[in-house]
Amino acid sequence: MAFLIDGKKISAEIKDELREKVAALKEAGKELTLAVIQVGNDKASTVYVGNKKKACEYIGVRSLAYELPEETTEEELLNLIAELNARDDVNGILVQLPLPKGICEDKVLLAIDPNKDVDGFHPVNVGRLWIGDKGFESCTPAGVIQLLKRSGITISGKECVVIGRSNIVGKPMAAMLLRENGTVTVCHSRTKNLSEVTKRADILVVAIGKPKFITAEYVKEGAVVIDVGIHRNEDNKLCGDVDFESVEPVASAITPVPGGVGPMTIAMLMCNVVRSEEIK
Ligand code: NAP
Repeated sequence: MAFLIDGKKISAEIKDELREKVAALKEAGKELTLAVIQVGNDKASTVYVGNKKKACEYIGVRSLAYELPEETTEEELLNLIAELNARDDVNGILVQLPLPKGICEDKVLLAIDPNKDVDGFHPVNVGRLWIGDKGFESCTPAGVIQLLKRSGITISGKECVVIGRSNIVGKPMAAMLLRENGTVTVCHSRTKNLSEVTKRADILVVAIGKPKFITAEYVKEGAVVIDVGIHRNEDNKLCGDVDFESVEPVASAITPVPGGVGPMTIAMLMCNVVRSEEIK
């Protein structure tokens, strides 16, 4: 039976460590503030924003919530970002995606000061990650690295295969595994003979965006399998990109969905907020 990598427990540990750091900063007279901007009332975004505010409250970070109407123009949003960039009391700025039609996401993400870009999406932070400079890191892949490290899984020297090359998961995941001295292969929709490549993996990270796509035939006996996917199945239950029932007997360790990678994303966002002082 595979070891179950417990994202709930590990994310709780990280949040408790951050809470202590924030308390120490407060004692030294430094208060941290995260500005969270939501445009429109997309239901899923409202849930994510609510969870981020709750996490801020738990670790002791002040959150400034900007709930802007659907009709907000790009110019209005860019003006707000410029105002928050200029405020010394704001350490991090987060714009919840997706944005309503008519607002260019790339333009908005580029407008955020890279030293306040706690999502780690700004090209400056992407570049810092690839060249090994200190910067904000994309939260979901940073969470995967913490899951591996805190579960005692060595990355150095391992064959690491990432399925997916999105800017928010696959590509930064590859950069982080490389930084940890893994030997990294990235697969995508044009990869030939996918299962032959994935079967080389000691560590397989799946971010393909297709429910239960990865079955035992893609996995080497004893591999560590990290499932980044989140979907709701026909019975309204959460499932991942990995077919857990099929893969679990073959893997040495595996993340469940829910309770694996999911809870790590917010914990790593909080980690970025707390690190904001180091990054300036
Ligand atoms: P995405 O932008 O849709 O990217 C999917 C990637 O998978 C693409 O690079 C695509 O290749 C590749 N792909 C698609 N079909 C393939 C196939 N048959 N064989 C090999 N590769 C294939 O998705 P994403 O944003 O990276 O997210 C991936 C999953 O993670 C989703 O389920 C998402 O919901 C979940 N997610 C979870 C969290 C979390 O907090 N846990 C955060 C973000 C995302 P091409 O580039 O060639 O199209």
